[in-house]
Amino acid sequence: MVSEREIWMEAAARADVTQELRAMVAEAEVAVRARRPLCVSQGACCRFDRFGHQLWMSGLEVAWCLRQLPAAPRATEVDDAVHRGDCPFLREGACSVHWARPLGCRAYFCDGAGEGWQEALLESWHGRVRALHERLQVPYRYDEWRRLLRVFAEPA
Ligand code: SF4
Repeated sequence: MVSEREIWMEAAARADVTQELRAMVAEAEVAVRARRPLCVSQGACCRFDRFGHQLWMSGLEVAWCLRQLPAAPRATEVDDAVHRGDCPFLREGACSVHWARPLGCRAYFCDGAGEGWQEALLESWHGRVRALHERLQVPYRYDEWRRLLRVFAEPA
């Protein structure tokens, strides 16, 4: 039986999926440039437990992010991040996969300037990603980032 992980990875390799997700990334860049939220590099967007922030997305979106990386994180790296309360890609206070980071990371700013527009943007992306799942008949699972990363993680 084909696993959800394999279905998501196969769908993430499609040109139309890449086109749609790249369009959303481009929108994020325009929105952020227009609003100019302040980032003081305190890592609030990546230290989930400390700042009470959660990152949620769909399985297809995670697969698309991981396709841009040389390898998925190892299961122990994801588990360690859960234990610390942060992201497995946070290294020395910075994102080590900046070019491939999820849409949710691109629109989240903790300075308050993101209120309103970032929720609207995330809501619109959510609908579009869900529509992609439906159009491609790919299983839809909307879940927390590290729980989904665990599905894709290389064994320890
Ligand atoms: S992917 Fe990068 S920006 Fe997003 S939570 Fe992880 S370390 Fe932070």
